[in-house]
Amino acid sequence: MPTYLIKGASVVGAAPTDLLIRDGVVVETGRGLDAAGALTVDADGLVALPGLVDLHTHLREPGREDAETVESGSRAAALGGYTAVFAMANTSPVADTAGVVEQVWRLGREAGLVDVQPIGAVTVGLAGEHLAELGAMASSAAGVRIFSDDGFCVADPRLMRRALEYVKAFDGIIAQHAEEPRLTEGAQMHEGEVSTRLGLTGWPAVAEEAIIARDVLLTEHVGSRLHVCHVSTAGSVEVLRQAKARGIRVTAEVTPHHLLLTDERAVSYDPVFKVNPPLRTAADVTALRTALVEGVIDVVATDHAPHGVEDKECEWAYARPGMLGLETALSIVLDVLGPQWDLIAERMSRSPARIAGLTGHGVDPAPGVPANLTLVDPAARRTVEPSELASRSRNTPYAGMALPGRIVATFLHGEPTVLDGKAVR
Ligand SMILES: [Zn+2]
Repeated sequence: MPTYLIKGASVVGAAPTDLLIRDGVVVETGRGLDAAGALTVDADGLVALPGLVDLHTHLREPGREDAETVESGSRAAALGGYTAVFAMANTSPVADTAGVVEQVWRLGREAGLVDVQPIGAVTVGLAGEHLAELGAMASSAAGVRIFSDDGFCVADPRLMRRALEYVKAFDGIIAQHAEEPRLTEGAQMHEGEVSTRLGLTGWPAVAEEAIIARDVLLTEHVGSRLHVCHVSTAGSVEVLRQAKARGIRVTAEVTPHHLLLTDERAVSYDPVFKVNPPLRTAADVTALRTALVEGVIDVVATDHAPHGVEDKECEWAYARPGMLGLETALSIVLDVLGPQWDLIAERMSRSPARIAGLTGHGVDPAPGVPANLTLVDPAARRTVEPSELASRSRNTPYAGMALPGRIVATFLHGEPTVLDGKAVR
């Protein structure tokens, strides 16, 4: 494995320094480092961040390799500055057995572009009726710690209680897609002024808030851990704020798109803006941004959801919900938060790694730390061109937008996965 010398990087916004990487580890930092035979990476003007960690990615393999594979999604992730992603369980077959999670885990290691950590399903087939083999998935080679029926809500409170009880034994986490299904039947977009104007069936905020309220109380009762996926409403933020003040062990994520886009986008009837939970109002966006800064929301997670053209380039009513996210997430967060590098490192790397108990990731580059890091050019702007994305799908809501920040290089276990803004493999 070659030795790498990164010259003049600003580590999480601090004064520029050099970073010497050998055998997968940052071995030395300081100005004017020299190492015979080292491959040099000029990082003048670049910010070094701990490699980003995504708690919510859909890689589509096995089953929908036309939309994404573990390898193509891993490449998209590396180009977005990620070194670890958590792959959601709604594949085909569903990742509800030790066999399937080990398959995804192995495909991730073979691709070798990010550490792919499978999320196991909570219920068999995501059907919401019987608990999946959570213990077998936890003790498998994949070492699953997070379980989710994402795409569907674990709506049955008795089943949710049993799932929370079960994972408590090994400090596992239930990640809930909070959507009371009886309140969202036929829903096409956020329920509000715009849905009324367009005559589309609405997805009311209370359908999310009611489930979060129920689940934080169940979590408190059981003494377990809950993670709330893609929080999208101001009311959800208030429920989480109260739960955290009571000491309930709940964490939460927000997506880049819910931090930037509103339900007004539905006026175009362009299905690229159809997503679940739906884009909300400007007031919700403001509340989500505040909650992210305050830490009521712990992490930014992409909910990267690739879909083929036949599922996306059709009428709004028939389009599948979901948007790409891995290759644009950092730019969106930089646009929303500005260059608050410590906050960005916290919400996109340290905090997600800590929540998941993922060692070797989410640690700022320093001597002795595994070299999982990314280099960002904060001065660059780039226009999103869907055809240039590494994802197999094209459903980005940011096509044509000029976004700040560009990932110049990403290192995984001391080796570059991205150099000069391009995937190495
Ligand atoms: Zn979801």
